[in-house]
Amino acid sequence: MKDPRLDDLARWAQENFGQEHTGHDLGHIRRVVSNTEKIIKKEILTEAQAQIVLAAAWLHEALDDKFFPDTAAARVSLNELLEASGYSADEQEAIEAIVQDVSFHKRQKKAYPLLTRIVQDADLLEAIGAIGIGRAFYFGGAHHEPLASTPLPQDPWSSQNPKTVYQHFFDKLFRIDELLSTAVGREIGEKRTRFMKEFLTEFTKEWEDGSFDSLG
Ligand code: ADP
Repeated sequence: MKDPRLDDLARWAQENFGQEHTGHDLGHIRRVVSNTEKIIKKEILTEAQAQIVLAAAWLHEALDDKFFPDTAAARVSLNELLEASGYSADEQEAIEAIVQDVSFHKRQKKAYPLLTRIVQDADLLEAIGAIGIGRAFYFGGAHHEPLASTPLPQDPWSSQNPKTVYQHFFDKLFRIDELLSTAVGREIGEKRTRFMKEFLTEFTKEWEDGSFDSLG
């Protein structure tokens, strides 16, 4: 049964990310929640744990300093929201720990507990597959990043290549499947990675067909 407290958190997401256009809009948050629902179906969790994970999925951007640069204030607001929505002190602590870890996992390499890994996987899945491709080009456009370089890099896995959207696939997107740690996350990740590789193979052909040595 759906936990009615999640409605408050969905409202918070709508209020804070309804007008966001950096690839972290409300649709992104909804898809992270939906990925979380898929992942928890195959994990052995108590009902209480499942509700904690779903709450953390709705709130997974709440402590990200990209959106809330005053981290102390963000923490206070998150506490207030959870308190007002009826979460107990223990639940608040568990939800905040997940949100904190999801925001900082790119900076801290360590072994995370299952509840955190579920939301991390749900978020990582958003960067790959068809939506991941869309988000990468969207980000590239917003940051004036070229589509790709001419010629394309000889070794696309090198860290010395020019920063382009094409390069982002090798720098980050094709490495995400190695980071996924839940069964469902891995299964979806494998399918989405295969699709991105097909896309990039086709992209590479079309790009190289249009690359001439001179303007003549
Ligand atoms: P998050 O913290 O959610 O990973 P990012 O801002 O790093 O947020 O990424 C948001 C989206 O933009 C992701 O889909 C990511 O793959 C894409 N992205 C991030 N950096 C680049 C880049 N340099 N070029 C193209 N896409 C990018």
